Amino acid sequence: MAKIQLLDPRLANQIAAGEVVERPASVVKELVENSLDSGANRIDLEVEDGGVKLIRVRDNGSGIDKEDLPLALSRHATSKIRALPDLEAVASLGFRGEALASISSVSRLSLNSAVAEAESGWSARSEGRDMSAVLEPIAHPQGTTVEVRDLFFNTPARRKFLRTEKTEFSHLEEVVKRQALGRFDVGFSLCHNGRAIHSLKPATNQLEQERRLASVCGPAFMENALFIDRTAANLRLWGWVALPSFSRSQADLQHFFVNSRYIRDRLVAHAVRQAYQDVLYHGRHPAFVLYLEVDPANVDVNVHPTKHEVRFRDGRTVHDFIFRTLHQALADVRPSDQTNTAN
Ligand code: ADP
Ligand code: MG
Repeated sequence: MAKIQLLDPRLANQIAAGEVVERPASVVKELVENSLDSGANRIDLEVEDGGVKLIRVRDNGSGIDKEDLPLALSRHATSKIRALPDLEAVASLGFRGEALASISSVSRLSLNSAVAEAESGWSARSEGRDMSAVLEPIAHPQGTTVEVRDLFFNTPARRKFLRTEKTEFSHLEEVVKRQALGRFDVGFSLCHNGRAIHSLKPATNQLEQERRLASVCGPAFMENALFIDRTAANLRLWGWVALPSFSRSQADLQHFFVNSRYIRDRLVAHAVRQAYQDVLYHGRHPAFVLYLEVDPANVDVNVHPTKHEVRFRDGRTVHDFIFRTLHQALADVRPSDQTNTAN
């Protein structure tokens, strides 16, 4: 008798979910990225019990056609790339076609959506081991609402790793804040157990952006931050860096975006650390919210399933550009500007 068998689709998806769905915060990251990719300029989130009981993400983006709904829930199904060359200059946040399939295999997920001028909206759930989708007509404005209930209800081993409601919510909130910093042009709201936690209107000019920054990173950061904006060759670096006097005991206020995608990168971290080296005491960490714009063809985002890591085609140039820009900006600060203290 043959010993090798194909896994049923739900199990295969649950195994894949291990890579991207660690906790409620990872679900939120994937759902909000989908909303952003759909062109939404308004994203509303409601969560219960730190996201374990419920995560609901509603957007006003393109919506999904009825015919596409079952596919949206299937693994390796995406509308964002078709061929290898697309992957080499990918501009969307998603492209792996795995998030919804993974999340729906470890939760009770419903996908509700309507496209412009459709007679009705449609709701899809995937059920059973073969993950086949069940469709029902519903009333829905243009856009998409994804509801994820009872995360890890069928994978007790994963569920055991969840922390307290407070801890899970704080991870989730961190993800939303980061996404709100990544896209000033999009309005965000976040409710937890019926309580409004954040309500951020789209920010279209620097003043409004700084207001959002103060609300997300705290007014003290904003009061002690320098705005920078420098372009060289085909690189642009802009954003806010805290004065050395506003250093932190932890690296907890560091947000770096490459083409609106939040990343953690050793090369970038090194360039920033070097720029602050002469002006920060040992053991203190700089605070910054920075945006690097590069030609998508010069950066590979397909390094890791969560896409938090990237690879630059010309890492040396990127490193030196970041270092020089920040070093110069910090050198230009008059000593009298450096009198405040922070924690
Ligand atoms: P990926 O984002 O990598 O393509 P996902 O599993 O996250 O994979 O989503 C699958 C597909 O479902 C997407 O390619 C997109 O076409 C569609 N989709 C998911 N969420 C939304 C949304 N909020 N609005 C419009 N389309 C969506
Ligand atoms: Mg996605």
